[in-house]
Amino acid sequence: MRRFVLLPLMALASCSPASTPSQATLTLAVVNARVWTGDPGRPEAQAVAIAGDRIAAVGTTGAIRGMAQGAEIVDAGGQFLVPGFIDAHVHFLDGGQRLTSVQLRDAKSPEEFTARIAAFAKTVPAGTWIVGGDWDHQLWGGELPRRDWIDAVTADHPVWVNRLDGHMALANTAALRAAGVDRTVKDVSGGEIVRDARGELTGLLKDNAMDLVAEKMPPASAEMQDRALAAAMKYVNEQGVTSVQHMGTWADLDVFSRARKAGRLTTRIYAAVPLNTWQQLADTVKGGTYGGANGRGDSWLRIGGLKGFVDGSLGSHTAAFIEPFTDNPKDRGFFVNTPEGLYSWTSGADSAGLQVMVHAIGDRANQTLLDIYARVANEHGERDRRFRIEHAQHLAPADIPRFGQLRVIPSMQPYHAIDDGRWADTVIGAERAKGTYAFKSLLDGEASLAFGSDWFVAPPTPIEGIYAAVTRRTLDDRHPDGWVPEQKISVQDALVAYTMGGAFASFDEKDKGQIKPGMLADLVLIDKDLRAMPPADIRTARVVRTIVGGKSVYTR
Ligand SMILES: [Zn+2]
Repeated sequence: MRRFVLLPLMALASCSPASTPSQATLTLAVVNARVWTGDPGRPEAQAVAIAGDRIAAVGTTGAIRGMAQGAEIVDAGGQFLVPGFIDAHVHFLDGGQRLTSVQLRDAKSPEEFTARIAAFAKTVPAGTWIVGGDWDHQLWGGELPRRDWIDAVTADHPVWVNRLDGHMALANTAALRAAGVDRTVKDVSGGEIVRDARGELTGLLKDNAMDLVAEKMPPASAEMQDRALAAAMKYVNEQGVTSVQHMGTWADLDVFSRARKAGRLTTRIYAAVPLNTWQQLADTVKGGTYGGANGRGDSWLRIGGLKGFVDGSLGSHTAAFIEPFTDNPKDRGFFVNTPEGLYSWTSGADSAGLQVMVHAIGDRANQTLLDIYARVANEHGERDRRFRIEHAQHLAPADIPRFGQLRVIPSMQPYHAIDDGRWADTVIGAERAKGTYAFKSLLDGEASLAFGSDWFVAPPTPIEGIYAAVTRRTLDDRHPDGWVPEQKISVQDALVAYTMGGAFASFDEKDKGQIKPGMLADLVLIDKDLRAMPPADIRTARVVRTIVGGKSVYTR
């Protein structure tokens, strides 16, 4: 159904961005706060007044109290109020699904890996697929898991559990059988099927080879999907996240759309679909199914973005580098799509006015993608296209200034830096690591940085992300002054990347990312001013209230 009724509403909202209290009834005011607005015109304030789902006024506690009679008043008691966090890269339903599945992220030995799967299998009916897990083989010395670790305890359950980066996964024998995969299976380009010395499948599949099982897995029921979405929204709201930019599928979009129509969203979602389906997205926008003035939906659910891949991940040795891996001189990773294919999809998407965002980890992947973006921009001419590189993880020094020059948005995940930083030096060497998560150099080159988590891959916790970007202290605390410390940035810069940077990355900077009259009333109250804390303590700060569209969706 065409939701044309949204048109006049949207127009009204955008005509009166500075709606004053005299024009609209104030519904909520937060007073007595330390407000970081993100608005260069008024960076600091004490109080914010809200009318409906928009910010009506920003000012002193006295002034806001004076105008807010009849409104609900939240006394912040001197706590820190900032624009709602925008997580620029999530896999939202995967994240939600994992909240209710087996937890392997901190399994520290093969025995624990087996025991946790065995225990979980007892809690779900026979035949149910056990998925997710997010194991990390680095925690037990690097041996890759095998199906014979778990077959004896999962005879009645197909198991498909992935490494925490999502670039490899282990299938047990029941899952391989259900997917019709046996030792006769042929190699897959852009992927790897791991075999033992006798040529038997170990059950471990990497990158494109993961499709052999993933595509045969029965889809989760609508009810399970709805439940995953609800769990995901609740969890990120608790972390102060008010908007997410989701990298997913058309099926995911159906789940979001169902929730949007039922008025169940408490997180705003910009939902990207696979890059190679750009024509379908162009048609969908034109068809107007998602409503909105431009056919791309509304402030709760928007479409218009396309997500692709150049390479794999560092942890799986599938990221594409210019030089070979330091710990494996025969290998320099690989592309999961050809440059020609990526160019033609990007070109098609761009000519349809859609936004392209592509995953690139290794320096060779990033360089190739920057070349493709430059070529398409050159061929199509000036346009506000906002090409993005997701992760932009390892950059050759000469490529760093190209982000600013080409106005390509690096969409990065600081938590990955303090996670990978534990072992990345052994994979790529200390010299190449200097171009790793190069936040500071990218900002110096005037790139517009957007921060996110890559949840389910990493926790969707912006405060931890800010801590990571500011300290670069690896999770094992082996780099107290920071891993590649010259790439540390300030709390203020990290806040910008989690608010305005994210808003800009989704063409939403007129509606969110700052605390300013006319903007959506998406706010987060934190117990301490992150700018006034010793950096190492930032991660101890807690979200105490999250407001989305003028409504409190979480209070501690
Ligand atoms: Zn991702």
